[in-house]
Amino acid sequence: MKSNCDCAREMIGGSDGPWRKPFEPTGVNTTPQLDWGTHMSVIQVGLTDRTHKLDPQLVQQAAAALNIQVLRDLPQYWNVHATVRYLPESTQIPAGVWPVYLVGKLPDGMGGVHLDKRNQPYALVESVPGDDGWTLDASHETLEMLVDPSGNRLRTSFAIGIDANGKIHDTSGQFEYLVEACDPCEGSQYAYSIQGIAVSDFITPHFYDPKPTSGTRYSFAGNIPGPRQVLKGGYISFVDPQGQEWEQILYLGDKPQLKKLGPVEGASLRAIIDGVTYGPVREFRKGNPNLENPNFGEWCKLHRKKIHGVTLGRGKSLDDELLAGGLGPHG
Ligand SMILES: [Zn+2]
Repeated sequence: MKSNCDCAREMIGGSDGPWRKPFEPTGVNTTPQLDWGTHMSVIQVGLTDRTHKLDPQLVQQAAAALNIQVLRDLPQYWNVHATVRYLPESTQIPAGVWPVYLVGKLPDGMGGVHLDKRNQPYALVESVPGDDGWTLDASHETLEMLVDPSGNRLRTSFAIGIDANGKIHDTSGQFEYLVEACDPCEGSQYAYSIQGIAVSDFITPHFYDPKPTSGTRYSFAGNIPGPRQVLKGGYISFVDPQGQEWEQILYLGDKPQLKKLGPVEGASLRAIIDGVTYGPVREFRKGNPNLENPNFGEWCKLHRKKIHGVTLGRGKSLDDELLAGGLGPHG
């Protein structure tokens, strides 16, 4: 089902697109412009390993999986048109490409999506060789960067609170929520696999619906049971429009907890909010690997191995056909 929600298009950097100036016959216009009215330009995301320590084949496979996620899954709910590709050199970033850098240990406050000096987004994702958990984070940051490139998108809905049993519930007030597509369902137990690469579940625009309706999905993979529900390992950030104080509900222990962040100002609200949240959330995940899905990482690895076997078989079979057709081995 497609959503008619507003979208991130206003931020997209024109790169590839249809070159035609509207309202003028072909040939009159010598300075082509993007026709924003009838065509959509494509955002290009580039995944690159700045540590030079990760398995390049895995980084390429992850880029291919993220490409499928942003082409096949994300547009089912969010009006985003994007591709993801592998960038082999982290010092070579083509103009118009929004990079997702895989980096080593990040200083405090540096994880997540940022804006560069010209206010173009890029993301930093911690990665450790031998631990494939970074694919989930790369998916998280890629999706959030595409759904809200500037990190300032707010959605208004019912306010929420935590009751005595630790359950999140709607209240009669109203909050403005920072649209962070993966935060409420970011725990590794909610990841799903694309070709053996673990990617993040993400909320749909129905997450902000006034109340639940039957058959509605609140997250793509169906993990979130109703509007504004935060799952274990996840969080949500919001502000009461009557005040300046930002708050979060973090679900990093047995029960969700409210945390006051104080006033938040800057070019990107998310960059500041992620600055104080990126570390603790990942620490929680490290301490509780695969809460409810302990074998998922191993299953992904095995699946990739099987895919590789199929790939070799298919390559050989096609090559045999070419040889039988008369092509030499190097022709
Ligand atoms: Zn996030």
